[in-house]
Amino acid sequence: MNLILLGPPGAGKGTQAQMIAESNHVPQISTGDILRKAVKDGTPLGKKARGFMDQGKLVPDEVVIGIIDERLREPDCHTGFILDGFPRTTSQAEALQSILPKIGKSIDHVINIEVDTEELVRRLTGRRTCKNCGAMFHILFHPPRQEGICDRCGGPLYQREDDKEETIRVRLNEYQRQTAPLIAYYQLKKLLRPVRGVGGEKEIFERIVRLLNTTRPS
Ligand code: ADP
Ligand code: ZN
Repeated sequence: MNLILLGPPGAGKGTQAQMIAESNHVPQISTGDILRKAVKDGTPLGKKARGFMDQGKLVPDEVVIGIIDERLREPDCHTGFILDGFPRTTSQAEALQSILPKIGKSIDHVINIEVDTEELVRRLTGRRTCKNCGAMFHILFHPPRQEGICDRCGGPLYQREDDKEETIRVRLNEYQRQTAPLIAYYQLKKLLRPVRGVGGEKEIFERIVRLLNTTRPS
C-alpha cells in the first residue's frame, strides 16, 4: 500500500506514519526526518536546508523533490511506502505525480489528519524530540518516564528550534498558504480520506486502520 499522510504541523502525522509503517512493514519516508539528519550530519543538503527549517519556512521544492525521487527508488519501497511530510506544495504534488509512473507506482490513499489551530499550537509548544533517535514526547500529553530523557534510547530530549512559539506561527501560516491547497487537489483525484486527529494516538491509529480496511484504493 502506498500512502501519503497530509495534515498541519502538530497533527500527529509522524506518530501515525510510524505506527502504520510498523504494522504494514513498509518504510516511513519523512522529509522532515531526512532533512534534520542532514542538518545534524552537516552534509551539503543539511547546509542548504538549515536556515529555512530554523525559521519555520519550507525548504525549496527542488531540494525535497530530489530527495523523494531518490528515496522512492530504493528497494524497500517495492512493497509499499508511507510519505510523511511530502508533498507539501502543489508543485511537489505535481512532481510526485510525474515520478510515480516512471517507477511503476501510484498512490492508494491520501490520509488527511484534521486538527484545529488552537490545539496545534498547544501540542507544538510542548513537544520535545530526542536528539538521538527522533522519538517525540510532549511535556503534558506524553511525558517521558524521566524528564529530559528519551524512553526509547536514553538520548537527551530537546525543543526543536522550529517548535518555539514564533516559529510555530510561521509554520502554520506556511501550511495554510502552501499545503492546505493539496486537500482540494487530492479530493479532485478522489484520493482524499479525512481522519479526525483529536484523541489518543491509538484511537487515531484505529480510525486509520478502519478506514484503510473499508476504503478501496482508487
Ligand atoms: P512539521 O510537519 O511538524 O512541521 P516536519 O518534520 O515534517 O515537521 O518538517 C520540519 C521542517 O522541514 C519544515 O518546517 C520544513 O522546513 C522542512 N520540510 C519537511 N518536509 C518538507 C517538504 N516536503 N517541503 C519543504 N520543506 C519541508
Ligand atoms: Zn531516543
